[in-house]
Amino acid sequence: MTTITRAEVHNEIYVGGQWRTPSSTDILATIDPATEEVLGRTVAAGPADVEAAVDFARAALDDGPWGQLKLDERIDILGRVAAEIEQRQSELGRLIVQETGAPAATVTGQAGQVFGTIMFIRVFSDLARGFAFREERSGMFGRSIVRRDPVGVVGAIVPWNVPFAMSVLKVVPALLAGCAVILKPSPETPLDSFIFADIFNRAGLPHGALSVLPGGIEVGRALVAHPGVQKITFTGSTAVGRSIGTVGGGQLKRMSLELGGKSAAVVLEDANIDTLIPSLIESGLGDNGQQCFALTRILVPRSRQNKIVDALATHMRKMKIGDPFDEATTIGPLISARQRERVEGYIRLGLESGATLAVGGGRPAELSRGWYVEPTLFTNVDNASRIAQDEIFGPVLSVIPYRDLDDAVRLANDSEYGLAGAVYTSDVELGQQVAARIQTGTVGINGLQFNLLAPFGGVKSSGIGREWGPEQLASFTELKVIGLGR
Ligand code: NAD
Repeated sequence: MTTITRAEVHNEIYVGGQWRTPSSTDILATIDPATEEVLGRTVAAGPADVEAAVDFARAALDDGPWGQLKLDERIDILGRVAAEIEQRQSELGRLIVQETGAPAATVTGQAGQVFGTIMFIRVFSDLARGFAFREERSGMFGRSIVRRDPVGVVGAIVPWNVPFAMSVLKVVPALLAGCAVILKPSPETPLDSFIFADIFNRAGLPHGALSVLPGGIEVGRALVAHPGVQKITFTGSTAVGRSIGTVGGGQLKRMSLELGGKSAAVVLEDANIDTLIPSLIESGLGDNGQQCFALTRILVPRSRQNKIVDALATHMRKMKIGDPFDEATTIGPLISARQRERVEGYIRLGLESGATLAVGGGRPAELSRGWYVEPTLFTNVDNASRIAQDEIFGPVLSVIPYRDLDDAVRLANDSEYGLAGAVYTSDVELGQQVAARIQTGTVGINGLQFNLLAPFGGVKSSGIGREWGPEQLASFTELKVIGLGR
């Protein structure tokens, strides 16, 4: 029988600095993807809560105290948020692993997701200190003050794959820029968002500056459609991003859309195979393949295909699938039964396309519960086939052979998406030249490389706008010029 502890039941949501009963009677059940048991039940927000949250946010900006705080005061509050997160690291880490199934020992498990947010708050607070919120520019036509004022009320909509970190990554820069934020967590992973709200509340964030409205599509839609929301920052699928773009565009809202990907690892002739294989595994199968930037298309020189596939297959067969809390586990369950069906559907499509199944393809026989799929490797994949073109969001890798460098670049760019990528080579200079030809927002040399000070985001159907770095802070501001004359 399923037992639910008190900590996993939430009856109130955080609206504008107060815990209150939501307008909706909907209940969100969170299921542990490793055990298929109910992990918690929470109330959900409704569209009327969006109305209330927008009113609180506007009042906080216009009548204070939030709107009157100086940057240093905002940074102090966020410093207390970081300290609160630090105190609750193990509780949060455990919950996130239970909610998402991401193996605890991997980067998106406990340590990465929670510790990473503390670092992020510190890095971004420093960045904000040096950010040009106000500049004077003089020239032959006179003097101007160029201000970057808060854009206003921000709606932040996040997916389930990295729920806590993604929320911090959106809410903190928006607050540093002086905005008020309404966060909508995913209905699959609402539990950590209650701790999120509690942390900001305990840190003394003034009323109205933050609301956290767990809920489904209706709440997201209400937030996007509300004329009192000046900016939407969204991370999720391309399909939903398009629909948000249509509604938000009609209102000329500011929007940052971080969407899906089908990124390529371009392996050059001279790549070092010993370091290549672990990197391909981590960047393609991390978080069970449920990462937007996963390198799921592996482009290899035809002459080296067999050697690389053999090494990759040997590694993948040794991967430990199972309990995400087991330190040895590298592949946990997928987020939901629906997601597993979707992934299995793609595996069938891969077989029908004529690709060769080298590893996996099924459910692990030894696990009777949990939404697991074996790490799966297809080789001889046609880049035009569905498994090479669609974002699968599961542990499925495709090896695609290429003829020469031009062919490799052509294949890498033959995708609807353009989020990330990597070039594997011993020649860093050549790597940079190839990277410059790949049409994505980010390309790493010898693996995915991320830097919180550098902008992250996609081109083509992978999105609009950038997160991280000063570009993200700027995205939560509106330019205003005051002309002073000569
Ligand atoms: P999703 O698009 O289904 O949902 C994302 C969020 O949007 C959820 O909170 C959902 O409730 C909400 N939503 C759904 N329909 C909406 C609507 N019409 N209006 C407003 N909000 C709506 O995505 P998901 O399944 O939760 O997450 C997986 C997807 O996220 C993948 O496609 C992945 O690539 C993408 N993702 C992208 C990045 C990135 O940085 N580019 C990072 C992580 C995940």
